[in-house]
Amino acid sequence: MRHTHLVRLREHLEKPEEELHRTCRFESDIATLPPEGVVALTFDDGPEPGHTEAILAVLARHRVPATFFLIAEKAKAHPELVELARALPGAVIGNHSWSHPNFHDIAVEEQAREVGSADALLRADLGATPLFRYPYGNSSCETNERVHTLGYRIVGWHVDSCDWAFDGPRGLTASEALSCGVLPAYRHDFLGHVVANVRAHRGGVVLMHETHDISVDNLDALIVKLEAEGYRFSTPAAQEFEASLR
Ligand SMILES: [Zn+2]
Repeated sequence: MRHTHLVRLREHLEKPEEELHRTCRFESDIATLPPEGVVALTFDDGPEPGHTEAILAVLARHRVPATFFLIAEKAKAHPELVELARALPGAVIGNHSWSHPNFHDIAVEEQAREVGSADALLRADLGATPLFRYPYGNSSCETNERVHTLGYRIVGWHVDSCDWAFDGPRGLTASEALSCGVLPAYRHDFLGHVVANVRAHRGGVVLMHETHDISVDNLDALIVKLEAEGYRFSTPAAQEFEASLR
C-alpha cells in the first residue's frame, strides 16, 4: 500500500501533466468541485468482518448514507456483510475489482477480467450500483473504456483521508503526508486532516477504508463534526455528484 502510494506520488511529480492525462493513469483525481456543502463518505476494500458492522452501526445511528466499494472476492466470502450494508437506508454498493491488484502492474486483459468478474458477482448477484473505483485509483485508458461500456461511472475522490498511513505504527512520513495532502499541522491528527480537507473543497467525496481502525474509530466524531459545520451527506450515485464522476 505505502509503496504503491509513493510510486503514484513520484509519477505525479516527475511526469508532465499532459502525459499523465494522455495515458489516463490517474482517472481518480477529481478536478471538478463537489456540490457545495455536500459530503459523500466512501469506504473501500470491504467487507471487513468486525469493522463493517461497526461502520454500519454508526451510519445508522446518524442516519447517514455511504458508499461501499467492495473487493468482490471478499464480498463472496462474506455475503452476510454485503446484505447488512445493503440494508442501510441510502447505502450504495460499488465495484472495486475482484482481488484489488494494482492495475498499473497488470495487463489490460487481466484488468478486464478483474472488472468483469466483480461485475458478475456484485451487480448481477448482489444488486450493486454501476459505480467503479480503481484499486489505488490507478487507471488505464483501455479499462476506462471497458467500464463505461459496461455502463459504469468511475468514482475517484476529492478528499483522501490517508487512513492507511495514519494507521501505521510510526505515523505519517513526510512523503506520505505529501502524497495525501496532509498539512504539517495534521500529521498526528487524522480527524483534523479530514475535516480541513472537506472544508478546503467545501464538501466532496471522501476516501476511507473499511480495513483501517482509525477510520472506524473516528467515524462517529467525523460525522458529528461535519454536521455541526453544516454539511449534509449524500452518495456519488446522486444526481448532485454527476459532475464529479468520469
Ligand atoms: Zn482499495
